Amino acid sequence: MQPEELFPYPEIRPAQLELMRAAREIIDSGGHLVVEGPTGMGKTVALLCSLLSSPRVDEYKVVYCCRTHKQMDRVIEELRAMKARITALSMRGKREMCLNRLMRFVPSASEAAQVCAILKRRGKCEFFERRGSSRVLREFFDRPVTAGEILSVCRREELCPYELAKELLGEARLAAVSYLYILDPSIRGGFLQEIGERLENLVIVFDEAHNLPATASEIASDRLTSTSISLAVREAEEAGEKKLSRELTGWFRFLQGFAGEIFGEKEGEKLLEGREVLNGLEAPAELAERAEEVGENILWKRVEEGRAPRSHLRHLSSFLALWVESCGMEEYLHILSKRRAQFSLELSVLDPRIITQEIWDCWASVSMSGTLAPLEAYRDLVGLPSTARLLELPSPFPEENVLCLATEGVTTKEEFRLPQMYQKINEKLAEICEEVPANVGIFTASYEVLR
Ligand code: SF4
Repeated sequence: MQPEELFPYPEIRPAQLELMRAAREIIDSGGHLVVEGPTGMGKTVALLCSLLSSPRVDEYKVVYCCRTHKQMDRVIEELRAMKARITALSMRGKREMCLNRLMRFVPSASEAAQVCAILKRRGKCEFFERRGSSRVLREFFDRPVTAGEILSVCRREELCPYELAKELLGEARLAAVSYLYILDPSIRGGFLQEIGERLENLVIVFDEAHNLPATASEIASDRLTSTSISLAVREAEEAGEKKLSRELTGWFRFLQGFAGEIFGEKEGEKLLEGREVLNGLEAPAELAERAEEVGENILWKRVEEGRAPRSHLRHLSSFLALWVESCGMEEYLHILSKRRAQFSLELSVLDPRIITQEIWDCWASVSMSGTLAPLEAYRDLVGLPSTARLLELPSPFPEENVLCLATEGVTTKEEFRLPQMYQKINEKLAEICEEVPANVGIFTASYEVLR
């Protein structure tokens, strides 16, 4: 079958046809495609046509990585427009697909995974205990569904939406998920198990791929502030862990003195070797392990008491373990900084390949965006092989229809977001709307600005 046979709209643009053919070649024979095509040209639907028309469609699963929930649901909507009769779903993170009220207080995705694991292990999540309803699961077979639809059915049935989505992943041909499911090594292993496929059998799509390098670097980076260390010390004291609290207090004082020697009364940032901040500790790796154990008990105690399940000791433990492991690795920057009398340790990764290079073992990948050029730079930055095909698609909009103008005196910069500024922006927009003899679409810096 040719990709264009699945195209659901009246007219295929030449750029869409070019993308369909290039993507089909890569999907059929394996490899990597990097595409830049203008926003609004219909890249998603063109790519889906290539994916579903391939004779190999039953041999691989598609993981469609997006940045926002809206983009994930958009993939599902396009599949519906194509009348695709495949099991496909859009996913959210654990916190967004959880009905347990305790999860509302969890501050981050990684802590959500830990709290959920504890609740399940100790038999304390009623929604998890009721899992395994094949009747409900079958409702979602052979059709594309959004995470929102899964959530509302699970609310009705009092089942864990996340667990149900996980079971559905095993059946699905396509899953639209956040970048983290593929990029974050701590999430990827479990995710591959849930979808029941090896990396080598996946076709991975990165939508808005210009975000990939920064997201990959962020995943491998972390920060520990002096406040966070003080709170970890307090947790250890409250847990009666005298030795742990003594060691951490000693480390805190050592770091405080070290920052004082470097910065004095001033603020600043200094690149370190890494090992010098461990001098204040006897056995850093063992300390990290002990902090993790105590942190887990604290998490559980808080869960039982119905309090926000968070532990500063757990964060300190994972940060310290990574700091120790990364000493001497040139991909990591070890930074000490001081701001407003607070010091922070920061682990920063500049080279995204530390995260991305493993994923290119997949069967095929497509990275696409409206702003990716120069494509060679993207390919090299994320560590794609030199054989990756690079494709720049022309704009479907005639040049004479494009007019770029800039105006002075308005900004959406955070500190200027005041009623007077919005009033000025509205006046400028009103002027444009009056002058343009057709409909006007307005794109803003964020939903906050739009509202
Ligand atoms: S099992 Fe489901 S409902 Fe229970 S805590 Fe985990 S994600 Fe939430």
